Amino acid sequence: MDFAVSDKMKTIVGMINEFVDKELIPLEHEFLTRDFTEMEPVLEEKRRMVKQMELWAPNQDKEYGGLGLNLVEHGLVSEALGRTPLGHYVFNCQAPDAGNMEILHKYGTEEQKEKYLRPLIEGKIRSCFSMTEVEMPGSNPVMMETTAVKDGDDYVINGQKWYSTAADGAHFTICMAVTNPDAPPHQRASMIIVPTGTPGFNLVRNIPVMGHAGRGYSSHGEVLFQSCRVPQSNLLGPEGHGFAIAQERLGPGRIHHCMRWIGVCNRAFELMCRRANARVINPDGRTLARQQLIQAMVAESAAEIQAAKLMTLHAAWRIDNLGQKAARVDISLIKFFVANVMQNVVDRALQVHGGLGMTDDTILAYFYRHERAARIYDGADEVHKINAGKRILREYEPKN
Ligand SMILES: Cc1cc2nc3c(=O)[nH]c(=O)nc-3n(C[C@H](O)[C@H](O)[C@H](O)COP(=O)(O)OP(=O)(O)OC[C@H]3O[C@@H](n4cnc5c(N)ncnc54)[C@H](O)[C@@H]3O)c2cc1C
Repeated sequence: MDFAVSDKMKTIVGMINEFVDKELIPLEHEFLTRDFTEMEPVLEEKRRMVKQMELWAPNQDKEYGGLGLNLVEHGLVSEALGRTPLGHYVFNCQAPDAGNMEILHKYGTEEQKEKYLRPLIEGKIRSCFSMTEVEMPGSNPVMMETTAVKDGDDYVINGQKWYSTAADGAHFTICMAVTNPDAPPHQRASMIIVPTGTPGFNLVRNIPVMGHAGRGYSSHGEVLFQSCRVPQSNLLGPEGHGFAIAQERLGPGRIHHCMRWIGVCNRAFELMCRRANARVINPDGRTLARQQLIQAMVAESAAEIQAAKLMTLHAAWRIDNLGQKAARVDISLIKFFVANVMQNVVDRALQVHGGLGMTDDTILAYFYRHERAARIYDGADEVHKINAGKRILREYEPKN
């Protein structure tokens, strides 16, 4: 495989880095001190600029107004955008919309594509994804309690979900619900599109996460479905295929996340190195950068970031060239490895900043709070280690 970056991608990544530095990083103070919804007008303006630069929706098909990048290419974009928490949103490739776009693209009917996918890609609406339940383990989602029962031409949905990221202000959710309770466990659930204006769709609250409930896109909702009635034509993909589609959604999604986390690492690393060089800790003018313990933190971080990036690009390359099934172990390995690298690098950067690192005067405390979840969502560390370990060990089983 060849990881040489093409001229096209060098240009795109260069433009994105410049845009992030000039247009988005200066907005971070406002982002940290105000509600997301209050920032929407200024972010809309930035979104217009991105469209004019023809960098909008980088991983979506050209037919829908995207850039049509493959997974490795979009990984490089995701890395550049991950340097700021505003990056993916402003380029319209943010979770959970990006994953929803992918499955609507692949499984949506023509009507669903026109009604939900097109306006989503155009950035006119937002969406969310409601799979995890309050009372049931997200790590074993076959234990799902939410049901969708057929009644006439409709499904009637009942259940309690939480961590529906960005439910506040979303136009629709893709809800996972049990439609076929008597089928084998992995064929019981289906994905159903539920417009959030439907009676019986209730956003109970934005869950406080690490001290912040957030608003709008920057929030995680608890959602109660109470006799929520939608037409059966809102079924996304075949009935009973919910888990299979969810797996498909998560494969490329994990590449996007991992590359975004490497962007987070890069930013934390830049801040750490600048601070180490600037902070004088001795009357003779010696800086933190002269201390060997700090030099070790820099070297360890540089090695970990490089390893994480190469592993992730390798996994993306395998998905692009061999398909998602062949890359299952690679995907599990990067999911826990890169999440932990990010946590280590952000922690070291925060440590080097001392008390300043704990404040919201830099972006580090935000990363520290919000990115801790990386080791939990889209499969907790333990679940990926178990899956990868089991598959690897199978290859070494004695063959008779
Ligand atoms: C910030 C954030 C955003 C999210 N966004 C969404 C979203 O948009 N839509 C959505 O549907 N969900 C979302 N989630 C939910 C997420 O997918 C779940 O939290 C995750 O699947 C874990 O499920 P759980 O919280 O029920 O933990 P549990 O399943 O109860 O697991 C708890 C812990 O147990 C350990 N564990 C689990 N299984 C095993 C095992 N087999 N062996 C050893 N240890 C194990 C792990 O350490 C795990 O963290 C989000 C979560 C967070 C934190």
